[in-house]
Amino acid sequence: MTQRCRIGLINGDGIGPEVVPAAARIVDVALTRTGRSVEWIPLDIGRAAIESVGEAIPEQTLSALDDLDMWILGPHDSAGYPPEHRTGLTPGAVIRKRFDLYANIRPAVAYPGVPALSPQMDLIIVRENSEGLYADRNMARGTGEFMPTPDVALAVGVITRAATERIALSAFELAMTRRRQVTIVHKANVLMMTTGLFRDVCREIGQRYPQVQITEQHVDAMAAHLVRRGHEFDVVVTENLFGDILSDLAAELAGSLGSAASVNSSADKVMAQAAHGAAPDIAGQNIANPVGIIGSAAMMLDWRANRTGDHDLAVAATRIRDAVGSTLSKGIATRDLDGQATTTEFADAVVAAL
Ligand code: ATP
Repeated sequence: MTQRCRIGLINGDGIGPEVVPAAARIVDVALTRTGRSVEWIPLDIGRAAIESVGEAIPEQTLSALDDLDMWILGPHDSAGYPPEHRTGLTPGAVIRKRFDLYANIRPAVAYPGVPALSPQMDLIIVRENSEGLYADRNMARGTGEFMPTPDVALAVGVITRAATERIALSAFELAMTRRRQVTIVHKANVLMMTTGLFRDVCREIGQRYPQVQITEQHVDAMAAHLVRRGHEFDVVVTENLFGDILSDLAAELAGSLGSAASVNSSADKVMAQAAHGAAPDIAGQNIANPVGIIGSAAMMLDWRANRTGDHDLAVAATRIRDAVGSTLSKGIATRDLDGQATTTEFADAVVAAL
């Protein structure tokens, strides 16, 4: 009997309903070609959920995710929701927190033939996703941002040994499968206790990996080094906010933010979520680049293959990446990559290449 994969599918806002179905179609074809069938579980967040059930992140979506091991999440445009839906955590943050998706893995790789400021770039940013300087989501209850008076705003950064140990382990394990270099990014000259603890715990975990070369950078210097010599970095481990900023920079240097893939994972669940946002400026025009979310979906399949030993998923992931690479190398690309293809034309070409 054909073994079935159950995958959650959340379109999200902005360009999400354009790029997420394109990625799902490609995953479907790739898995079907390896002899597997897919059961897609469509779920709502964001505007669609506000319109249908009056909440940006409905409980029924969260409880459906309880039963799934993997899903694709489109972007959310929470800044554009009606004011009463803008008070709490963003939908992405709620999902990451509920399922303890602590590791955000964001590669920045230049595709051959695609115009890029850093065509040799091939690095992975391993971003701690559960605490850090993102004060809106680093507390068990309430928020780490508060205003004692209307003219004073405070934010609390949180770094713990436990969360740093597990993200450092993810980074060093990943480095062992690559060029065996880890760069610890912090700002311990200023945020001495918080990012200093992050640096120290990463160093301690690094001692278990004598084969891995460790370097360190302050986050501001790292931004400059990425521009000047980004191709020299392999695995970069850092806290939540620094990782978010550096990964957008690295993605753009490697080609385009729209091409940047990423997954968020816990010990047993994985969520594909491209590095880009909802891009409301180009939504609804069928011109968004789907490469980021397609690559994220391929990473999701790889992640499950590594966890479960399910070889078919790894084969499908490799075929998807190869099909995207060969499509781009034929000059078929969306506008952000200086091409002329629409989102659907690009997806059609990837399906043909599969
Ligand atoms: P967020 O904070 O939710 O990540 P953001 O404020 O960083 O969002 P994005 O929505 O990612 O912003 O958009 C940043 C710029 O990149 C916009 O000009 C947008 O049009 C462009 N962009 C983002 N994603 C894509 C894509 N998939 N294809 C083409 N352009 C994109």
